[in-house]
Amino acid sequence: TQIVRRHDEAGGVFVHCFPIRVERGVLGVLEVICAAPLDDDDLGTAEGFLGLYRNYLNLLDYSERDTLTGLRNRKTFDENIGKILGNIARPSDDDKRRRRPEDSHQHWLAVVDVDHFKRVNDQFGHLYGDEVLLLLARIMRQSFRQQDKLFRFGGEEFVVMLRNVAEDHVHNIFTRFRLAVERHDFPQVGRVACSVGFARIDPRLSPADLLGRADEALYFSKRNGRNQVNGFDELIMSGKLRITTPASQALIQSDVDEIFL
Ligand code: GH3
Ligand code: MG
Ligand code: MG
Repeated sequence: TQIVRRHDEAGGVFVHCFPIRVERGVLGVLEVICAAPLDDDDLGTAEGFLGLYRNYLNLLDYSERDTLTGLRNRKTFDENIGKILGNIARPSDDDKRRRRPEDSHQHWLAVVDVDHFKRVNDQFGHLYGDEVLLLLARIMRQSFRQQDKLFRFGGEEFVVMLRNVAEDHVHNIFTRFRLAVERHDFPQVGRVACSVGFARIDPRLSPADLLGRADEALYFSKRNGRNQVNGFDELIMSGKLRITTPASQALIQSDVDEIFL
């Protein structure tokens, strides 16, 4: 392990920083502060402790991730969605005064589903199907930012959460990803496409209703010819999606009140 030593003149102490490396990079730093520099014995002890902690973090990380793609798994989504919604959707005081969050402070949830994936399996076999999922996950990592959260939700379905993206940009961001998939040459399989449905993360929605909105937008994309991106709000506003299900109905009236009052 590389360590960084620093003498803090003001405090009269020695600071030792041990980076905690896991498979995917540096996960954190262990800082040991003491009156004298650590000797070789102390360093050995610290290294041993670091090894244990690293294994522990790797195990935690492993249980949170899907083994095929390395993305976060459905269980992680279910266990954290409440907390994530609470954290990222809490409006700032400024936003409360404006009644609507400032444009760039909006958050979004999308469901991505591979188009006609059964055909890939039927035509090329399950192994090639798995390879497509693996490569798709890689395209997702390349298309979205570090702070965006990516989940493999089940079979060939993925969930993406974007933070702090203005409404004007969200469609373009998902379209850029859709085009990256469409243009990718998958070994043997060739071309693969996917459909996307997204919804605004509204702190008043339950996780189930939020997912329901994104799902409705996704099914619209499927019904409407696949290989496309649709957002729930826009579908409702343009009258393309009828408000029929509880997920749609939830809070629609209060949205309308906010816009027109
Ligand atoms: P649509 O465009 O309507 O989404 O069509 P589709 O064929 O993708 O939809 P459907 O949900 O009917 O089929 C999904 C298929 O994905 C069914 C299943 O065989 C396959 N699948 C699910 N999980 C995996 C997996 O882990 N690996 C592979 N290779 N295939 C999977
Ligand atoms: Mg599916
Ligand atoms: Mg599918």
